[in-house]
Amino acid sequence: MTDIFTETKKSIIAISKKFKLDQDEVKEFLEPNRVVEVKIPVDFKNGQTEVFRGFRSQHNNKLGPYKGGNRVHKNVSREEVMTLSLWMTLKCAVADLPYGGGKGGIIVDPKTLTEEQLETLSRKYVRAVYDVIGSDRDVPAPDVNTNPKIMDWMSNEYLKISRERKINLPENLLYATFTGKSDKDHGLAGRTEATGFGGVVILKELVQRLGLKPENQTIAIQGFGNVGNYFAQFASNAGFKVVAVSDSKGAITERNHQFKALDIPLVIKCKEEKGIVAGCYCVGGVCDLTKGRPISNEELLELPVDVLVPAALENVINKKNMEKIKAKIIIEMANGPVSYEAYEYLTKKGVVIVPDILANAGGVTGSYIEWKQNIENKKYKKEETLKMIEGIMEMAFDNIWNEAANLKTHLKEASTVHALKKLLE
Ligand code: NAD
Repeated sequence: MTDIFTETKKSIIAISKKFKLDQDEVKEFLEPNRVVEVKIPVDFKNGQTEVFRGFRSQHNNKLGPYKGGNRVHKNVSREEVMTLSLWMTLKCAVADLPYGGGKGGIIVDPKTLTEEQLETLSRKYVRAVYDVIGSDRDVPAPDVNTNPKIMDWMSNEYLKISRERKINLPENLLYATFTGKSDKDHGLAGRTEATGFGGVVILKELVQRLGLKPENQTIAIQGFGNVGNYFAQFASNAGFKVVAVSDSKGAITERNHQFKALDIPLVIKCKEEKGIVAGCYCVGGVCDLTKGRPISNEELLELPVDVLVPAALENVINKKNMEKIKAKIIIEMANGPVSYEAYEYLTKKGVVIVPDILANAGGVTGSYIEWKQNIENKKYKKEETLKMIEGIMEMAFDNIWNEAANLKTHLKEASTVHALKKLLE
């Protein structure tokens, strides 16, 4: 079986061949500059030492320090972090950020650890990779199963080690080594909103180019976590009609497809109370399940809406369901939610799909602003952050839209070629 890194390289090589990029240069670019693999022995104070493995893949730093998340998951592997670091290199180039691409991880199911054990492991990981990270070298961020609390432990440990080693750098530069920290501990106001907000900036740009009006566009969103939730809020505020949302337990929409815009703040409140969105049909200030219809996540993807926003998992639109997709626009907010085959099929049918490396780049753009804020020893307000993200995302969209027109191709190929041209220059 071919691994995920080999598959990813193949797909990028195919695109680069089609657009006649130098194949030797592309092949050399695809390999990461360095993959650090570390052993992390942890004494959990129960008399036993457990040994974990961790990684940090530093793919490319031509445009700036390596940048990318650190995940904590039982399926983390060398190939996975290599692949994700390659995507980060392309994503940062698409968003025109002064960053390269990196990704790291620890192999463990965090649910098997107590909070104290997770803290110990996170701190030990930082000790193990200390020499290869830094605000001008490699800047880790949160990813699957890592949150502001973990990033705070990590940055705190980084400061501790720096002091032990008598590193003579101002504290703010040491904090700039990690992003995704909590707002109260040198993090960024607006970082949690950044990805969903950035996705809506892209959607607004797209509908404008297509000559459509937000108020005429119905939207279904799969995933109501950090990304989907804020996407729903900002899209609704911008006048779009969010008519269906889902979480892992199912989805909610109107009973007879006479779509009415959901009252998103009320859906959020209802989900907080009930624990699921499937019981929350909230429109015009009231939640009334008799008018709503709980549906499955599969049905949500096949609704006759204008815009589909997969914001949960990878590969949810694939060979099996691609013929049933009715939306005319898809915004890839999750990483890799539309398979290659489905992307080609739907594009040929006239569906406009904004690829993940453009659509969800608001997240890394937020990280960039946090890093900049720490380096400049400032504290930005949430409105300032969102304004900066808006400017960067609009510019990125414009670049990729024009590239697609020049190359006469779709936005995924245009993004990849645009990034490669910059990185191979
Ligand atoms: P999250 O954990 O906050 O939320 C995930 C949501 O998906 C939850 O609502 C969960 O219930 C739902 N979900 C899980 N399994 C599902 C299923 N089988 N069907 C439908 N829904 C399901 O995660 P997030 O931070 O919102 O990230 C979502 C996606 O966006 C991921 O692919 C992530 O890699 C990507 N992404 C996130 C960021 C970020 O800044 N958070 C940045 C870029 C990309």
